[in-house]
Amino acid sequence: MTDREDVLADLLAHGRHLASVAPVGVPWPPSAVPVTERTAAAATPQPARAEGAAPSDPEAGLAAIREDLGDCQRCRLAGGRKRIVFGQGNPRAELMFVGEGPGAEEDEQGLAFVGRAGQLLTDIIEKGMKMKRSDVWIGNVVKCRPPQNRNPEPDEVLACQPFLERQIEAIRPRVIVGLGKFGGQWLLKTAEPISRIRGRVGEYHGIQVVPTWHPAYLLRNPAAKKDVWEDMKTVLRLLGRPIPGETG
Ligand code: URA
Repeated sequence: MTDREDVLADLLAHGRHLASVAPVGVPWPPSAVPVTERTAAAATPQPARAEGAAPSDPEAGLAAIREDLGDCQRCRLAGGRKRIVFGQGNPRAELMFVGEGPGAEEDEQGLAFVGRAGQLLTDIIEKGMKMKRSDVWIGNVVKCRPPQNRNPEPDEVLACQPFLERQIEAIRPRVIVGLGKFGGQWLLKTAEPISRIRGRVGEYHGIQVVPTWHPAYLLRNPAAKKDVWEDMKTVLRLLGRPIPGETG
């Protein structure tokens, strides 16, 4: 395919997603590849911080966090955003995904992962893992769109941090997938590159963490989909769920 055809195919796929019609043409899951060895990352579990409503009432907990967030002006991202992207999904999810921060489409809609990367994430969850997107929770390290989609700055990540911490504490999922450098590093409290931390299972406050490539990276590097499929099989094993395509 030429670059132009590639771009046109991408636009077409995105248009289909926005119209919520037939699934877009990003093949998922990629062909099966051998399972790689996973090792538990040496992370020190820390007691989870309980604030707001009791963890037994995740809906109320999340509502309290949203209220505390308010019309957040705690960092400079507030100046450029259209909407705060709080994150969405099942407040009682056993699986959570944490990305980097909203892009243009997310900023417009106020919803996490609704652009092209979001469609691929949906395919990973629904076509690959055979789970429903509405059964998981999806959020981000920062809740406002960085201008021109630049990386969030450390002070912006810090300003948003208590809210993501409280969201995780309210939901208490069994497994969290860290998407890309920002999701993975934030959860594992490491500066190691995503290329080094993915492929291993880590821990965040007693919750198992599976870092993997960001879906936006997969759009540029489809060959990395096979790694993500291995990571998602790890997630399914940790959750005790069946692995599509594998018998027994
Ligand atoms: N990329 C992210 O990291 N988060 C989103 O919500 C969308 C794209």
